[in-house]
Amino acid sequence: SDLIKCKKKFLDLVVLFIGSLFTILCVFLNKIDSDIHEAGHMDIHTNHTEQLNSTTSHDHEHGQANHVKTLADFIMINIDPILSTIIVILFVYFFGAILKVSCMILSQAVPIYINIQEIKKDLLKKIPAIVNIHSLHLYEYNPFHLCISMHFVIVKSSLKPVKNQIREISDEIIEFFLNEYFIFKVILQPEVVENISDYPSHDDHHCLLDTENKCLNNSHPNCG
Ligand SMILES: [Zn+2]
Ligand SMILES: [Zn+2]
Ligand SMILES: [Zn+2]
Repeated sequence: SDLIKCKKKFLDLVVLFIGSLFTILCVFLNKIDSDIHEAGHMDIHTNHTEQLNSTTSHDHEHGQANHVKTLADFIMINIDPILSTIIVILFVYFFGAILKVSCMILSQAVPIYINIQEIKKDLLKKIPAIVNIHSLHLYEYNPFHLCISMHFVIVKSSLKPVKNQIREISDEIIEFFLNEYFIFKVILQPEVVENISDYPSHDDHHCLLDTENKCLNNSHPNCG
């Protein structure tokens, strides 16, 4: 599934790249388009039998039927609307892809290819010392930069100071996110309990720092 995640991420980047490329191409096509119009305009005027001078008004419509003599003329006259239509279609299609990615970044939505529940499961399996993970949030600042924040609960060890215990597990978590998900920015909040029974197993979202978040079940004295 890691390979699928990478493929989807790569696909997003490819769409973004092609989109940017076409936007630039559209600008160039627009320039060429107006050059062709200028050229066609000059050509039509040199073929006129009438003599244009500064006093006669210039009131003919460009692209009128009387100008169409050959197929080349027809293409020359109609190249404007044809090219414009193609450019608009390309622009809307590829700019739409850029807009979609931009909106996802701005709303800091969870990337579609990453499942938070899956991360939680993976992490608990990889580091059994963690009793619980809650308040897990994933942000996307841009397609290359992810940020994760979470609270984790551990049981106080009798073998080493709590400070060392927290540092070791924090390092393991940071390494996990770097290796498995390419996430460089990790914000961690450790929470320590004396015994495993101090953390309510029935309340998956229980936070030891949140004193307002009390369990409604009165038969659980350790809750809240
Ligand atoms: Zn918490
Ligand atoms: Zn609770
Ligand atoms: Zn409870």
